[in-house]
Amino acid sequence: MAYSINKDECLGCGTCEAECPVSAISVDEDGKYRIDPELCIECGACAGVCPVDAPHA
Ligand code: SF4
Ligand code: SF4
Repeated sequence: MAYSINKDECLGCGTCEAECPVSAISVDEDGKYRIDPELCIECGACAGVCPVDAPHA
């Protein structure tokens, strides 16, 4: 199952977007980040760098 970002926790810092090896993460109109489940390869990099642990498997 692909990772997803808890929008209530996301601070909008963009760190995870920079770390994703397959560019699966993008920012929404509300400034929160989201993961495209079709692109995510479940590497866990986003969860590893997020300061608030918003991405979850
Ligand atoms: S690293 Fe965490 S807080 Fe920053 S944009 Fe990604 S999910 Fe949001
Ligand atoms: S788990 Fe890996 S591939 Fe999936 S969104 Fe996070 S950094 Fe990108």
